[in-house]
Amino acid sequence: MKEIRNIAIIAHVDHGKTTLVDRILHQANLFRENQEVQELFLDNNDLERERGITILSKNVSVHYKDTKINIIDTPGHSDFGGEVERVLNMADGVLLIVDAFEGPMPQTRFVLQKAIELGLKPIVVVNKVDKPNCTPDIAQEKVLDLMFSLDATEEQLDFPTVFGSSKAGWMSDHWTNETTDVTYLLDSILEHIPAATHKEGTLQMRITSLDYSSYTGRIAVGRVTRGELIPGSRVSLVKRDGTIVKSVAKECYLFEGLGKEKTKDPVPSGEICAVLGLEGFDIGDTIADIEEPEGLTPINVDEPTMSML
Ligand code: GDP
Repeated sequence: MKEIRNIAIIAHVDHGKTTLVDRILHQANLFRENQEVQELFLDNNDLERERGITILSKNVSVHYKDTKINIIDTPGHSDFGGEVERVLNMADGVLLIVDAFEGPMPQTRFVLQKAIELGLKPIVVVNKVDKPNCTPDIAQEKVLDLMFSLDATEEQLDFPTVFGSSKAGWMSDHWTNETTDVTYLLDSILEHIPAATHKEGTLQMRITSLDYSSYTGRIAVGRVTRGELIPGSRVSLVKRDGTIVKSVAKECYLFEGLGKEKTKDPVPSGEICAVLGLEGFDIGDTIADIEEPEGLTPINVDEPTMSML
């Protein structure tokens, strides 16, 4: 089975998240492959439109060296605390993007703190090293100070740092070492972020966020944490109060490039999935086995979220 890396992106607004994700996608050459899926949005190659989608679609993925990398967007603001915690729960590591000129900003502290508490392994990207008078070394040091103050573990403090310019399209091990692409960052993800583990057993998938399609209605998004989810199969929905509702996971979609692709194959644990056709679900519910439903521990759901529709 193909290896998976689930990585969440944390970035202060304007530090370059969208530009970097665009670069990663372009490098993986995914725009062309995904034209059909994205026909509604990508009806032309206008960069601004592509950038808009990167924000809208929230999760994107690329295939690199036989590994699928799911890139999970996080709301950059503590107003979405509940959502931050839930989406971070889908990840095995985080990419912290920091502007080489401004350094880490207080607004990302909350999100980083949650990531540290969840034991996620960080990779720091010091971006915009092309900016005149920027100080990448000071930005890196400030990140280290910040992680110290958040009680990061030894392992987390030992984070790798990648330097580069998303705008110019390169990432490398040092800001003076300009390269031709973002391969160095992709390799760092494979090297430092743990592979998503496959866990045998009966199905468990926590519904982490909602998506919405004007054609099909509400879509449940989450990570399969145990067993596998078979498209079209009958499942139990274990509600937060422990009650159980039977339903059908009519269609399953995986994140591919900027869009979602329908799959007929069982979705393995470790993968992030969007489920269509489930009835009566809420954020925080567990999609579980039809015969032996077992709920996951409840998570923070009571704050307002942008994706709650
Ligand atoms: P986001 O809000 O984190 O998604 O940031 P964007 O990717 O939209 O970038 C914000 C601004 O910073 C845009 O004007 C980008 O062109 C610019 N930007 C992004 N990356 C770089 C970079 O590496 N160098 C420079 N000089 N500007 C950048």
